[in-house]
Amino acid sequence: MPELPEVETVRRDLEARVVGRTITSCRVSPDAPRLVQIVAPAEFCRELTGRRIDGLRRRGKYLIVDLDDGRAWVMHRRMSGNVLYRRPADPPDEYTRAVFGLDDGHELRWTDLRKFGTMWLVEDATMVMEALGPEPLDAAFTPDVLRARAGRRSAPIKSVLLDQTVLAGLGNLYTDEALHDAGIHPLRPANRLKRADFERLHAGIVRALRMGIDGRGSSLGTTLRDHINVDGAPGSNQERVQAYGREGAPCYRCGRPMRRIKVGGRSSVFCPGCQPAPRGRRVRGR
Ligand SMILES: [Zn+2]
Repeated sequence: MPELPEVETVRRDLEARVVGRTITSCRVSPDAPRLVQIVAPAEFCRELTGRRIDGLRRRGKYLIVDLDDGRAWVMHRRMSGNVLYRRPADPPDEYTRAVFGLDDGHELRWTDLRKFGTMWLVEDATMVMEALGPEPLDAAFTPDVLRARAGRRSAPIKSVLLDQTVLAGLGNLYTDEALHDAGIHPLRPANRLKRADFERLHAGIVRALRMGIDGRGSSLGTTLRDHINVDGAPGSNQERVQAYGREGAPCYRCGRPMRRIKVGGRSSVFCPGCQPAPRGRRVRGR
């Protein structure tokens, strides 16, 4: 599932390829009825065609294409949405739900196995986003900011980190990585964490996200990857993860078998040695 590093990798790749390009055509497949939000796909396509791409931004997990008329083409990849930069003569990509022609002879293909991805054409990108928390890779995001935003909540820290209004961009993989890096159990109530915990957690979040971007994202699954880059190639960060998906495997730090539990309905992998359970609570891994 694309998180901040996967969206940022695609943003950077697209920025180098499509800024200054004009959208010459737009086709949305009838088998993706929920892809285009607010307006009908035909109207969306009519409005998008002829627009020049002036810039690419990212906010949390949203990808924002700034257009020459001041409007924003906003995309959210959700479970399995991907943007591919292809030529029309290139072999078809499975699960292509929309195709956008460009004046350099390329096209952008939106592929989405699960069809949860969404896009909008709006005057202002913030109109379609929830009140997102700070960007974790901004200089303004400090351990104190993290503590101020998360530290009053009594929910498990894992759930608090997944709340996009607390902090933007984290999903299941990078929260597991950050918590393991920081040595913090996913079930610890956020308001029980000490200042030193937030300092380690802040460092763990930044480290996990930077590593994800450096690895061009995490591509999970074997045949139908949930994240591929604009050239169709997978990222490599899945080969370096320390916690996510490693249930039963030895912790790279202490050698104990990693465990998996559910936290707020989400699967969480942690090390019972490096990430001690909250006091007074016995936590069983499965
Ligand atoms: Zn360990």
